[in-house]
Amino acid sequence: MDVKSTKASSILADPSPMNKSRLGIRSNLLPCSQSGPSFTTSVPTVTRKKPGKLDDVRSNGWLDAMQSSSPPRKKVNKDFNGVDLVSDEAEIAYQFWMIRYPSALNSFQTITGREMNKKLVIFLDYDGTLSPIVDDPDRAFMSDDMRSALRNVAKYFPTAIISGRSRNKVYELVGLTELYYAGSHGMDIVFPAKDLVPEKHVKCVKSTDNKGKEANLFQPASEFIPMINEVFRNLVEITKDIKGAKVEDHKFCVSVHYRNVDENSWPVIAQNVHDILKGYPRLRLTHGRKVLEVRPVIDWDKGKAVEFLLESLGFSNRSDVLPIYIGDDRTDEDAFKVLRKKNRGYGILVSTVPKESNASFSLRDTSEVQDFLESLVKMAQEDDDEDASYDTN
Ligand SMILES: [Mg+2]
Repeated sequence: MDVKSTKASSILADPSPMNKSRLGIRSNLLPCSQSGPSFTTSVPTVTRKKPGKLDDVRSNGWLDAMQSSSPPRKKVNKDFNGVDLVSDEAEIAYQFWMIRYPSALNSFQTITGREMNKKLVIFLDYDGTLSPIVDDPDRAFMSDDMRSALRNVAKYFPTAIISGRSRNKVYELVGLTELYYAGSHGMDIVFPAKDLVPEKHVKCVKSTDNKGKEANLFQPASEFIPMINEVFRNLVEITKDIKGAKVEDHKFCVSVHYRNVDENSWPVIAQNVHDILKGYPRLRLTHGRKVLEVRPVIDWDKGKAVEFLLESLGFSNRSDVLPIYIGDDRTDEDAFKVLRKKNRGYGILVSTVPKESNASFSLRDTSEVQDFLESLVKMAQEDDDEDASYDTN
């Protein structure tokens, strides 16, 4: 694995809401956050920031990315009975956006390639895709109905979870032994011993899976573990007095959550993380939804993890295999890109607001993800019933 040396201040922001990016301006270069989802074509208002002590994080765009990485909530008004009404403007913008990213539920036949009898492989992110985003990341539980849908999907199709969390943590939250798990944005993959070890990846070692069975383990960033442990300890120490800040160790990456931090303290948290990373040029920063993520600079991401798992399943370069990836994060875009390349499969972005994406389709929220998974199961059951009736005729 090539380990590149680069500056620690690399920025990768969450997909930006549509209106500014349609103007050709990257949202993480804009000095103010989006005021609401819309398709307005007017030039956005630019608020000048006063120069201050925190010039490092301001000049390199960290603060802007922190604001633009957190999609604005929809404006909600109450009617006379106290029922929530989402503003018409937001809904119209979303409907326009869906022309480019059609609903995966309405495009189900197109996505599943049913007429072409393709073998589906399902990849899923966890947070914001299978479980709702919540204030406390330790309480991002998936519902029993979602778990049941996922278990049924895995009966019919190879199914993998690719999460930014540590592999053990995401397994603890999902609790299904039937699935493949890739933690730390794909930097920690376990797969059955009977599967192929992709030729290029000699770093695979023997291990055991969640059922205690012999398995292969692939950890392309294993050499970074001592460094990540050190950075984790430093980040815990430097953020301990910032109310609401939470630092999580994901084994090959570290998250600094600021969802519960007062926005006035965001510059402080950004500067503290920036100061720590100055000493680690082999680590970089990416922006998620109200989370700063520190990860190794290696040529590996969720897209590479998808390719790796397809190869281990023996599905590389198979025209009769159709991978589908469902996710809501900036890091999922790498997987969407891999599938979009050569029309290999379909990416489905989960989002309640319009965003630029490499995905081909969209789902609005986790409940629509569940509907989609249940539709996959229903389709597979119908196919089974058809096959049984052919057998008896
Ligand atoms: Mg997510």
